[in-house]
Amino acid sequence: MIASDLQSGVEQLGDLIASSSIIVPFTGAGISTECGIPDFRSPGGLWTRNRPIPFDEFVASRDARDESWRRRFAMEATFAAAKPGRGHRALASLYRAGKVPAIITQNIDNLHQASGFAADHVIELHGNTTYARCIGCGQAYDLAWVTKRFEADGGAPDCTECDEPIKTATISFGQAMPEQEMARATELAQHCDLFIAIGSSLVVWPAAGFPMMARNCGAKLVIINREPTDQDDIADLVIRHDIGETLGPFVGN
Ligand SMILES: [Zn+2]
Repeated sequence: MIASDLQSGVEQLGDLIASSSIIVPFTGAGISTECGIPDFRSPGGLWTRNRPIPFDEFVASRDARDESWRRRFAMEATFAAAKPGRGHRALASLYRAGKVPAIITQNIDNLHQASGFAADHVIELHGNTTYARCIGCGQAYDLAWVTKRFEADGGAPDCTECDEPIKTATISFGQAMPEQEMARATELAQHCDLFIAIGSSLVVWPAAGFPMMARNCGAKLVIINREPTDQDDIADLVIRHDIGETLGPFVGN
């Protein structure tokens, strides 16, 4: 059912949280917009103006790699300045209280880790843009190192170990979903009693399959998103309000 107003939504969410012992949050871009991170997929967002570079193009073309890194450097001020918002902090409170074993996210901004989640308890379905990895051997690189090499060489650096290209540690279009993360997210969705989808339009598959999977395995399902989603009609509670305002009352609980 759809909460009639913010206050009744918050009250019903509070009741569901109180009566649940294993809560799995699933987050999308909407939780980070109040932190200054734009939703790349939104109308007028970066991806409607700049076509995303698919993985095979990144691998095949040095120009594509240079362009990809130039775009990433252009976003660095935004990512570096972002701090966890009320939504992140509320979920971190539930994590500290022992109610949330781990969190599943479509976001690449590292803000759940910054809010207090152990890195091992953040299941990143689309990777992380705050560091880089070699696409051959998996060696991790700091962005500062990549930036320095890019400036020195005038282009995207290759791995010092194996000479393969270095890419942000994100999952690009056309790149396989990370197997271990998908398996862990499946396990979490199947074994929780409350699943809360937050700030995701639930249109990007296979990630969007987890709320339904949790519901089918017996969990209660809450969807918090400003806009309607395709899965609202299977949810036990739908809150169509600002995420910071909805989750703000749960910070520090
Ligand atoms: Zn390598």
